[in-house]
Amino acid sequence: MLKGKSALITGSTSGIGLGIARALAGQGCNIMLNGLGDAGKIETTRRGLETGFGVTARFHGADMTRPEEIAALVESTAAGFGGVDILVNCAGIQHTAPVEEFSPERWDAIIAVNLTSGFHTIHHALPYMRRGCWGRIINIASVHGLVASANKAAYVTAKHGLVGLTKVVALETAGSGITSNAICPGWTRTELIEPQIAARANTLGVDLEAGGRSMLAEKQPSQQFVTIEQLGQLALFLCSSGADQITGTAVPVDGGWTAQ
Ligand code: NAD
Repeated sequence: MLKGKSALITGSTSGIGLGIARALAGQGCNIMLNGLGDAGKIETTRRGLETGFGVTARFHGADMTRPEEIAALVESTAAGFGGVDILVNCAGIQHTAPVEEFSPERWDAIIAVNLTSGFHTIHHALPYMRRGCWGRIINIASVHGLVASANKAAYVTAKHGLVGLTKVVALETAGSGITSNAICPGWTRTELIEPQIAARANTLGVDLEAGGRSMLAEKQPSQQFVTIEQLGQLALFLCSSGADQITGTAVPVDGGWTAQ
């Protein structure tokens, strides 16, 4: 069903975005990768999608803090693939500090990458979806789009905002063939949370594995990390016809974190 559709996934050079890119490519979607990182590694990833799944994969290095580069990313996707059918907003960064010690520069960067970039991608991609009377917008929010944790003022604010944006876009597109949903992962072992695992291990004087177990014990009742493959499967379902009437939702994938 997704064969030949085009998917733009911000923040897909690693972690959750790459997991979703692989899941979509596995169903025949052409992929626009985006993100930061080593050029050689990114090229290997891009080529791996093409050879592994027989799709066309491109890469655009737009910086998600720069609106004009985000516009160019969307236009480049549309020009290369003849439209933008699926948009996954996944780019994200983290910084932890108590609010009175939180630097304004870190605040601005987190709001720009984790929230405002999603406005810009949707703003530019939606006309292409409307033209095709079909579209899927999937915003990778977080459990922190639903509940808070200490020391994450900017991240929690951005993710709550992204859930709000998801709902507004769902209302504005209702009945048009376009849906807008948020996925809210709990702890997922990617580069984003490695500094938090290291800090926890350091505080406890234990190794990284024990540090990770301690973080799970505090928040995630399943005591298991979410995997990028599980998030890829949910994204696929949200892109299926079975999900035509699912819009405006924020779906937790969190081992019970937000049930507490
Ligand atoms: P990650 O660090 O592996 O991925 C982040 C991606 O964003 C990378 O591709 C990175 O290059 C990209 N990125 C960062 N700054 C960018 C910028 N200025 N311009 C363009 N791209 C940029 O981490 P991840 O865990 O896969 O994070 C992906 C998303 O999932 C984030 O939005 C994060 O908030 C969210 N999330 C992660 C977890 C978790 O436990 N890992 C939980 C909930 C939500």
